[in-house]
Amino acid sequence: MSKITIQNIDIELIRKKIKNIHLSVYPPDGRVRLAVPQHMDDEAARVFAFSKLSWIKKQKKKYTTQEGQSIREFVSGESHYFMGTGYLLNVIETKGKQRVELRNNKYIDLYVRPGSTVEKREKLLSEWYRQNLKDMIPSYIQKWEKIMGVTVDEFGVKLMKTRWGTCNVRDKRIWINLELAKKAPRCLEYIVVHEMAHLLEKRHNRVFKDYMTKFLPNWKNIKDELNGLTFESSKWSY
Ligand SMILES: [Zn+2]
Repeated sequence: MSKITIQNIDIELIRKKIKNIHLSVYPPDGRVRLAVPQHMDDEAARVFAFSKLSWIKKQKKKYTTQEGQSIREFVSGESHYFMGTGYLLNVIETKGKQRVELRNNKYIDLYVRPGSTVEKREKLLSEWYRQNLKDMIPSYIQKWEKIMGVTVDEFGVKLMKTRWGTCNVRDKRIWINLELAKKAPRCLEYIVVHEMAHLLEKRHNRVFKDYMTKFLPNWKNIKDELNGLTFESSKWSY
């Protein structure tokens, strides 16, 4: 493994028997890794990384701000993601029930008390995210229990900084990261399957990966979608 540095950002450079270029920025501290085909030289890798610098910086920033993402104020006009789709937040003051509603595939209407704090608005939205995940996860678990022949005794949703999910094999309990409410449903399903696959194999070894490929043949693409980007190297001249 070698290292390239661009504008004070260290990038681990790895050459592998791969066809595409894969760029990832990992939690918790924003480590950057660039995997390139074996015949790609340092200079070409550097040029490629440079062309993706704004994306790298954006990803790194997600891990360095306190909340694990860019600072939000939860005011009207901000974009917020739900199930992989971007929506515009629309804050509506109400004396009625505080709630969150989707409207016209475009807006997240957030009904709050007049003069609500940022924290309160954030909490309302988080609880709505959590409730949506809690409504969706059981059907995935049921579906995959039948296919995989395992049982999950309990699941929970919590905000985690460095993992998309965890599995307590002994207690047959899985935890799912609240942040998955912002990602496409296939990402949520992939993490549920991943955690359930730990009931068959604890470690991330060959056996585990074979299970994943058997159950979700395109799991690597979904993993990339969650953790990084893959670029077709043929599009890049070097
Ligand atoms: Zn795992």
